[in-house]
Amino acid sequence: MSGVQRQSRFERSDDVVVMKFGGTSVEDASAIRRLIGIVQSRLGSRPVVVVSALARVTDQLLEAGNAAAAGHLGSALAIVRSIYVRHEQLADSQVDEHGYSALDGELRGEFRELESLLHDLETSRQLDLKSQDHLLGFGECFSSRLVKEALCQAGISAAHVDARSCIVTDARHGQASPVWDVTEQRLQERVSPLLETGRVPVLGGFIASTCDGVPTTLGRGGSDFSAAIVGAALCAARLEIWTDVDGIMTTDPKLCSDARVIRKMSFDEAAQLAHFGTKVLHPATLAPAMRENIPVHVLNSRRPDGEGTEILARAKSGNLVSAITAKRNVAAVEIECAQGVDSELLRSVYAVFDRHSCSVDVMATSLRRMSLLVGSTTALPAIAADLRGVAELRWENHKALVCLVGETIRRHPDVASRVFAAVSDMDVRVFCQGASDRTISFLVEESKVEESVQRLHGIFFPQREPVRDWGGISSAFCQAG
Ligand code: ADP
Ligand code: ASP
Ligand code: MG
Repeated sequence: MSGVQRQSRFERSDDVVVMKFGGTSVEDASAIRRLIGIVQSRLGSRPVVVVSALARVTDQLLEAGNAAAAGHLGSALAIVRSIYVRHEQLADSQVDEHGYSALDGELRGEFRELESLLHDLETSRQLDLKSQDHLLGFGECFSSRLVKEALCQAGISAAHVDARSCIVTDARHGQASPVWDVTEQRLQERVSPLLETGRVPVLGGFIASTCDGVPTTLGRGGSDFSAAIVGAALCAARLEIWTDVDGIMTTDPKLCSDARVIRKMSFDEAAQLAHFGTKVLHPATLAPAMRENIPVHVLNSRRPDGEGTEILARAKSGNLVSAITAKRNVAAVEIECAQGVDSELLRSVYAVFDRHSCSVDVMATSLRRMSLLVGSTTALPAIAADLRGVAELRWENHKALVCLVGETIRRHPDVASRVFAAVSDMDVRVFCQGASDRTISFLVEESKVEESVQRLHGIFFPQREPVRDWGGISSAFCQAG
């Protein structure tokens, strides 16, 4: 993409705001009412709305697919019918009779297609990644149609845009990557004219298709990434990620009730957090925003007036450690090679992992051994078979990677020693400070995640002195940075 093109698009779309609403922000009638209010408050900034599937729907679709592929078509269809009823009830509560009949027709057509896919899965007895992408994408197809109609009902001139016809990806099913040129061109062709005529485009997140029209997805949690892709293509002035927490916090508030909102952070810091398991942002989200220098705001749809977190090119959280993350479901893989670890072995190992679409997180090597971390064990038996004769592979499940992120962590060696001291009584492994300037991470048993994160949070984010007020009632500060 040339600088000249970027400049001209920027001039056209300077005031566009892309607003992404996650599953809990569209989960029921009150969530959708809040969404409408939030979109209404942005009408002056040419909003583009990107929505996830209703909360839990993607997991239910996966469950239905697995049931069908195992031959339990009855249970698969029962799950899908419950999803249908939920959407119909929601449509009924949001939309008048006229709007309802159009929406109902669209939803019925899509549910019929979904049921027919389940029949095919029962016949083929397998749910491969390609069919899985087709299946999981229905959640966003339903929610985007529903939200578009609810917005229209509220008097907002919304228009549905099929994300599968705009976001074009490679065929890496389960975690596809955009083909940028075509995607940008299609988004500009289909979304910009709507904006120019005062409409509010509504797209499903997470879903895309190959250039041949085969459905793909951007990976679980991928609606954040969709919003960033749309934002980059339209050179939006701002990207808003509306979710169920007050912003990016010093750690997952579900793990530690003392977690505090981080007011400002840099693209780099946020990208590290997302990479190391901070669920609030899909790991790929920051790259397009960073490339086009689009500020990203993480906001709570249940408290729309909150300040949230602002992610900018040159912001600082202000703390030595800006946040602590935990990535669960990690498997520790040991690869032993009698001939020793050399570049030839590294090349073959990477090629085999790549062939099985198994991405590797952290790596350490010694004379005869490589230690890798992977997020799924599904492909490991096949990888072990492919490497037979070259190296021997063993793995252990149920690990978690705990990571501390901070701009200047590397320049403060005492951080590592404080972390070591805090978890010295736990079975801690693969302690890494090397590869990234901004992170320190280690592996623990999954059962120890909560305890280790809470201990570290207590050390690096101690409760500040309570402030006494007139009546002698004390209140603690609860903001970070
Ligand atoms: P959405 O459905 O809106 O995309 P997600 O469930 O994907 O929302 O992400 C929001 C969740 O991310 C929060 O409910 C929270 O539990 C989790 N989370 C993990 N780490 C953090 C963090 N550091 N700050 C905020 N939320 C976090
Ligand atoms: N609905 C998809 C998922 O649950 C994508 C998303 O929510 O971002 O993974
Ligand atoms: Mg999410």
